[in-house]
This record gives sequence, C-alpha cells and structure tokens, in this order.
Amino acid sequence: MAETAIMYDSSKCTACKGCQVACKQWNQLPSPLSSELFEYTESFQAPRDLGSNTWLIINFSEEDKEIGIDWNFMRNSCFHCTDAACEMACPVGAISHKDNGAVVIDQDKCIGCRYCVASCPFDVPRWDEAKNKTFKCWQCFDRTSAGRAPACVSTCPTDALQFGDRAEMLGLARERVSELKAAGFDKAEIYGEDELGGLHTIVVAHRGLEAHGLIRDPKIGLTDFWQFLKPLGAIGAGATVLGLGFSYFMARDYDRGEYSYDEATDTVSVKEVE
Ligand code: SF4
Ligand code: SF4
Ligand code: SF4
Repeated sequence: MAETAIMYDSSKCTACKGCQVACKQWNQLPSPLSSELFEYTESFQAPRDLGSNTWLIINFSEEDKEIGIDWNFMRNSCFHCTDAACEMACPVGAISHKDNGAVVIDQDKCIGCRYCVASCPFDVPRWDEAKNKTFKCWQCFDRTSAGRAPACVSTCPTDALQFGDRAEMLGLARERVSELKAAGFDKAEIYGEDELGGLHTIVVAHRGLEAHGLIRDPKIGLTDFWQFLKPLGAIGAGATVLGLGFSYFMARDYDRGEYSYDEATDTVSVKEVE
C-alpha cells in the first residue's frame, strides 16, 4: 500500500464543520447535547476541544483587526506522525502504523494507561473513563484500505481537504503555497513535510503556522522519559537476577537447623543439623 496523506488547506476552509459531522457519522461517535456547548466563549468554535467521542474539530483563532476579523481556521485531529510519540510510549504495543502511514489504536490491546495521552505533542488522544480506553482519529483505515477517501475528506464541499499519495499531496501543497504568496499571503507555509519524521496530515497554513496555532518544530515529550525507562527496566531486571545469585552464593553453606516446641515449658529449641 502506498504512503498516503490528508492535505488540509486553511485558505479554502470555510469552517462549515461538515468534516466534523462526517467523522461522527462514519465512526458512529455519539454527540451528547451539553449546555456547556452553548456557552458563549467569544469564539465560534464548537465543540471547544477534542474528546474520546470527538476525533476532529476545526479550531478557530479569530484575530480582531481594525476592520473586521481574520478567521484563522485549523483542522485539529491526529497528524499520523512517522515518529509517533504515542506509539513509542505505549507499553503494550496497542498503537501501530499501517502500511500507508496511518497510526491506529487497537482497542482490544489498550489498557487505558494514558501514556499516549501524555506523550502526544499535539494533545490528540483522549481517554474514556467509563471504557478505560483511549481514542483518536484512525484516518478511517476501513475506508482507505478499500480505496476510499476518509469520511471527512469525502464530505468537504470546498476541497479544503484532499487525500492521496503523500508525495502528490506535498506537491499540491507546495503549488498552493506559491499561489498564496503570489496573492499576498507572504507568511503562507507548509506543515508536516519534515516535522516528526513527516506527518500524514499535510497542512497549508495561509497566514503562517503561529496564526493557525501550529507548533513550530514539535518535540516528543514523555516518550523520551519512557524510552529512558525501558533500558533502566532492563538494568533493574538484570540487577535483580544478579542479587538473587549473590544471595544464593552467600547462603549456600547455611543450614537452618531443626526447630521444636515444648508445650509444657512453652519454649522453642533449635537443634543444629550435622
Ligand atoms: S468540511 Fe472542509 S470546509 Fe468544511 S470545515 Fe471541514 S475542512 Fe473546512
Ligand atoms: S498526532 Fe499524536 S496521536 Fe497522532 S500519531 Fe502523532 S503522536 Fe500519535
Ligand atoms: S480521517 Fe476519519 S476518523 Fe479521522 S478525522 Fe477524518 S473522518 Fe474522522
């Protein structure tokens, strides 16, 4: 299977949220009504954050201008990193890469430890307390492995989302950045070409990474700590074996003796073994 990617072009996104709905519908994710969703927060973003049942949202970074507002939208979902911190952090191998680059959680193996939650530089995986499992976008692998585009891409009415061969998506993104620069968007940039070994969601950020809330040069966090712990664990196990061997060596000539109890005098006596 060829390496594939989603491409998101912020300059074409109208924040219609069709992709959010398609994700919920295809993946059968419930969307409970909550009064919090309707609280005015000085932003039109809804819902406010990802969740165990919400694997994609369009983030709004509204910028007040002298006249009007700059609407800086950004797709917030898994980036399907080549160097995936979540995968490295998982102690039971529940997270893996598919051949096309999609990073997928195997729910049967997930033990709900939340190492992946702590390690993802983009704060993507979300833990479900009731199920004690962690969830995130799986790039609709059921669809892509059958030759279809992910549900979010299929529904996008403006072609802000596209899906295909990763090299082709990068080519389209480069072309688009050139067009945007020529049209006066000097800060237009590509995101995902090299970050974390290359992402499988490529972004065209027409007002620059910062305006769209993207982390420049993202780093792997807790995973480093976990990777550091793995050799320590091996050293600890080796030290335990050595310690047991040493104890055995020191005690090899030791005889415990025979204990006897005299009920009449309520005393215990030890007889040395010859
Ligand atoms: S469906 Fe397309 S235009 Fe609508 S919010 Fe999603 S990416 Fe933007
Ligand atoms: S964005 Fe986070 S959850 Fe997605 S592959 Fe990268 S590290 Fe894993
Ligand atoms: S690829 Fe599939 S699971 Fe991921 S955000 Fe799009 S619709 Fe949701």
